[in-house]
Amino acid sequence: MNVRNIRGTSNSNRGIAWLRLWKEANGITPSKSIHCSVSGCTAIAEVGAHVIKDYTGMRQFIVPMCREHNLAYGVDLRINSGITPMPVNP
Ligand SMILES: [Zn+2]
Repeated sequence: MNVRNIRGTSNSNRGIAWLRLWKEANGITPSKSIHCSVSGCTAIAEVGAHVIKDYTGMRQFIVPMCREHNLAYGVDLRINSGITPMPVNP
């Protein structure tokens, strides 16, 4: 699955809160460190990034990312197959 970051969601405190929500939704203890969802990235996920999937409209999802990938705009990011994007309810 490929995703793209959505601009304007890089505020650190909110990103940390979104990561906590993603972990809760996936049954992962909030204090447990996980890796960035981007394929091949070995950095620790520090935020829950807002993304859209495969150009399928404007529906937003959260996936865990390192800070560097959270700021990667305008590029396709391949997400590891074991990651479940969490829908963001408007
Ligand atoms: Zn990364």
